[in-house]
Amino acid sequence: MLRALLLELAKSSRLRRWITSNSATRRMASRFVPGEELAPAIEAVRASNRAGMSASLDHLGENVVTRDDAERARASYTEALERIAADGVDANVSLKLTHLGLDLGEDFCAEQLRIVVGRAGELANFVRVDMEGSAYTERTLRMVHQARAESAAVGTVIQAYLYRSEEDIRALLGIGCRIRLVKGAYKEPSRIAFRSKKDVDANFIKLMKILLPSGIYHALATHDPKMIEAAIRFAVEQNITKDKFEFQMLYGIRTDLQQQLVRQGYRVRVYIPFGKDWFPYFMRRLAERPANLIFFAKNFFRGSAPPAQ
Ligand SMILES: Cc1cc2nc3c(=O)[nH]c(=O)nc-3n(C[C@H](O)[C@H](O)[C@H](O)COP(=O)(O)OP(=O)(O)OC[C@H]3O[C@@H](n4cnc5c(N)ncnc54)[C@H](O)[C@@H]3O)c2cc1C
Repeated sequence: MLRALLLELAKSSRLRRWITSNSATRRMASRFVPGEELAPAIEAVRASNRAGMSASLDHLGENVVTRDDAERARASYTEALERIAADGVDANVSLKLTHLGLDLGEDFCAEQLRIVVGRAGELANFVRVDMEGSAYTERTLRMVHQARAESAAVGTVIQAYLYRSEEDIRALLGIGCRIRLVKGAYKEPSRIAFRSKKDVDANFIKLMKILLPSGIYHALATHDPKMIEAAIRFAVEQNITKDKFEFQMLYGIRTDLQQQLVRQGYRVRVYIPFGKDWFPYFMRRLAERPANLIFFAKNFFRGSAPPAQ
């Protein structure tokens, strides 16, 4: 109920204005978003690299309504890729197709994606296409298939809560596409998605067992120790070595677990978002964990720093 409410509120432009203009909420959001510009995000990448982890930079933004905004987003991604190369840091980029203008037309958006993936390929880097709400699943997969036919520098995300995901995974494996497996962060109806944590977790494990033996380098993006333990157990049983896949977690969430995995010799990538448009991302993080919301509410007027995870 609370999760559904928060995900619904993530669409409210009034709440967005109120939250993003308030200094206490901006401080709270900095737990999940290291800064509004590329420079602090690169600093966060350096810190992750020093801690033995790679990173993925996400310039926050979604559902742009003008071509200018989409082209600006595209330029920010090529700039991020160039900065990563110039600074010699270990990071790739993650983006959302609605940030590159998917709502403005598939051909237009495909062209923006082609430019970003092309630049990533030239720089021997990689672009991960995030998965958004189910209204975009089909189009996102279609565009990823197209982009992957032209370049190996692109991969995507599959959400374990969708019933369709096993079939989508098999099609993506058929074209050698790298996949990030997640549970899924949007509000979806039971017609198309598992609703209970138990069912989503069971499907995550089922899909993980298809991905890991595929011989393609995939990512398991979760903070759930049970999912991580299941993956480690399965990899050991199947003789899948630690360099054949990676774990991914979000900036500011379960840093203790990130470090524990690094100490155990696993590859860990931290997803580092930056930018001014942090409101929907912030709301999805609150929705994932009621304790975040309680903490947020308690500290809203006090302005204290959030606890380390
Ligand atoms: C690198 C990365 C990329 C992602 N990309 C996408 C994407 O493209 N599309 C998409 O739909 N979703 C994406 N997600 C979000 C994902 O779908 C889940 O919503 C999110 O990861 C929470 O699920 P969980 O697997 O961590 O497990 P959960 O069952 O939600 O949580 C397990 C435990 O993890 C911890 N935890 C989880 N979330 C939080 C939080 N916000 N704050 C503090 N602790 C928390 C808590 O200890 C919790 O008990 C991504 C997640 C990661 C890590």
